[in-house]
Amino acid sequence: ILKGKRAIVTGSTSGIGLTIAKALAAEGAAVMINGFGDADAIETERRGLAETSGANALYSDADMTDGDQIAAMVARAEGEMSGVDIVVANAGVQHVAPIAEFPPEKWDQIIAINLTSAFHLTRAAVPIMRKAGWGRIICTASAHSLTASPGKAAYVAAKHGITGLMKTVALETATDGITANCISPGYVWTPLVEKQIPDTMKARGLTREQVMEDVLLAAQPTKQFVTVDEVAAMALFLCREEARSITGANMVMDGGWTAQ
Ligand code: NAD
Repeated sequence: ILKGKRAIVTGSTSGIGLTIAKALAAEGAAVMINGFGDADAIETERRGLAETSGANALYSDADMTDGDQIAAMVARAEGEMSGVDIVVANAGVQHVAPIAEFPPEKWDQIIAINLTSAFHLTRAAVPIMRKAGWGRIICTASAHSLTASPGKAAYVAAKHGITGLMKTVALETATDGITANCISPGYVWTPLVEKQIPDTMKARGLTREQVMEDVLLAAQPTKQFVTVDEVAAMALFLCREEARSITGANMVMDGGWTAQ
């Protein structure tokens, strides 16, 4: 269903982003992946995406803390793929600390990667999408776009912010064939979640098992992690023609977390 479409997925060397890139490629889209990691592993994924899609697959090492690098990434994608139809602002990092001890440099980094990078990506992509008369802008937000947890000031602020950004872009592009939406998963089992377990253990004086059961899945009434495939399926749905009326929305898939 995405043959001829060209996508950029940020933060797609791992976790949710990589799964979204694979889902878009499986429907025939050319995909540019982005993020950090082992060069050989990334090249293997890039080649796999090209084989899957039968189209182009590119890798950009653009740092999502740097607006100039993001603009250059979009310009390169437009040049080498002859356009950009879909952008997924997915790169994200976490840091867990109480507000009085929250390192200011961590605040700046999280706001830059989890929020401001989506601004730069969208800003560069919208003129290209307007020319084509079609576009899909998707941000991986979080249940933390709607609710908070202690120790996550920067993350919660960034995720609340990104829903406001997408609502604004949705209004500005409403008559251009472009949609702008967020996907808000609850806890998804990825390296990002795995990495925050030690900090949460320290911050709350809990064991690993207590963090998994009493902190992470305590919030999720289904008592199950959301899967990366479920999130990718939602991203794919938002790219379909049937989703053209969904814009400015926050697609929540959190096992009932924010229903409480
Ligand atoms: P992950 O750690 O598996 O992947 C993060 C990706 O971002 C990696 O590819 C990494 O290389 C990239 N990245 C990090 N810093 C970067 C930078 N400066 N420039 C470019 N790329 C950078 O994490 P994930 O769990 O797949 O998270 C992806 C998104 O989903 C994030 O926005 C996260 O907030 C969101 N999310 C995750 C969960 C969850 O439970 N895992 C829940 C809700 C939302």
